[in-house]
Amino acid sequence: MRVSRREFGRLGAMGLAARMLPSVGLAQGGEKKVGYCVIGLGTIADHFMRGVLASSNSKITGLVSGHRDKAERVAAQYGVPTSSIYSYEDMDKFRDNKAIDAVYVALPNSMHAEYTIRSAKAGKHVLCEKPMSTTVKEAEDMIAACKAANVKLMIAYRLHYEPTHLKAVKLIRDGALGRVEVINGAFGFDAAPGAWRLNKTLAGGGSLFDVGIYVLNASRYLTGEEPVGFTGTVSTVDQDGRFATVEENVTWTTKFPSGALCAGSCTYGAQMPGYFKVFGSKGTMTMEPGFNYDGMRLRVNAPGLTLDEANTEKDPMQFTREADHFSECVLGNKRPKSSGEEGLRDMKYIVEIYGAAGVRL
Ligand code: NAD
Repeated sequence: MRVSRREFGRLGAMGLAARMLPSVGLAQGGEKKVGYCVIGLGTIADHFMRGVLASSNSKITGLVSGHRDKAERVAAQYGVPTSSIYSYEDMDKFRDNKAIDAVYVALPNSMHAEYTIRSAKAGKHVLCEKPMSTTVKEAEDMIAACKAANVKLMIAYRLHYEPTHLKAVKLIRDGALGRVEVINGAFGFDAAPGAWRLNKTLAGGGSLFDVGIYVLNASRYLTGEEPVGFTGTVSTVDQDGRFATVEENVTWTTKFPSGALCAGSCTYGAQMPGYFKVFGSKGTMTMEPGFNYDGMRLRVNAPGLTLDEANTEKDPMQFTREADHFSECVLGNKRPKSSGEEGLRDMKYIVEIYGAAGVRL
């Protein structure tokens, strides 16, 4: 992601810091592939594993699942030996499995912290799904555990590695839109009854944790700034029993130090195709679809620049790029772009938005 000179300096300093970390003992040869153990074999894990198949520096070498039969089927598909299938209970034994360098945590949100920390303690690098955790404290503990074990931690913000989003950021940084004044964005879907996402204990909260986070995170990388204030409102329209523990809708506003504003919305009660619009002093940018697994379409209308282009790469290419990046970081001892600290920032902002809406998490 293209960043301002100030950010570049900060990241450079972080890169330096990363190089000062001791080597984690992986073979450094050009042929080395990072072996991933996938923890939780649900929807997103399937995208990730298919993405890894096309990666030049990553492979699937282990599985953790509560369903042995399913794990054996997946193992056969990806060439994972049955000796590298673990249950949630005995997962820690993978400490001695040399084929497993890293884990991909693809579990419900409230399980991210426990499985990240256990993996770090077993000496494995951690790629953890978003949202990083369900509380700020958990996110801090995850960062601390990975630091203590000297392993990398990356949060799976797949769009940080998606070329159309990267282009949008570069255009803004290069001044194509002038000053960013206002960003609007939304993302949501109609959640099925009984889904773990609707259970606060497993999800941490409602649609902001799951899908609103895309708009929140995008507003930060599009502006290149950190928010200085939020407003928030939550509501539940559908009294059909789905929203007993989490809210259905969230709308929030964010103010950035430059004065740029973002208004975001998310829902679990309607099909809300993900998009963002950036209104600059000189021009306008739209990304729609904005947060899908493929087909990002970027339109820009600015003086001297009219753009309408779509990324034709198909799912699971975003996951290939994500795995490529994390493996590069593991093999080259570099700091992941979407670090634990990046995930922690979003956790803090999510808590602030709910706080502004009068919701105690
Ligand atoms: P999912 O329900 O499809 O899969 C969850 C997996 O966790 C399943 O294999 C399930 O068996 C396992 N599991 C273990 N204990 C469980 C429990 N107590 N309750 C429910 N499931 C349990 O969910 P998903 O959509 O794959 O989401 C997993 C994580 O990935 C979430 O944190 C979610 O926010 C994130 N996610 C990220 C993206 C993305 O684009 N980056 C997209 C979807 C989901």
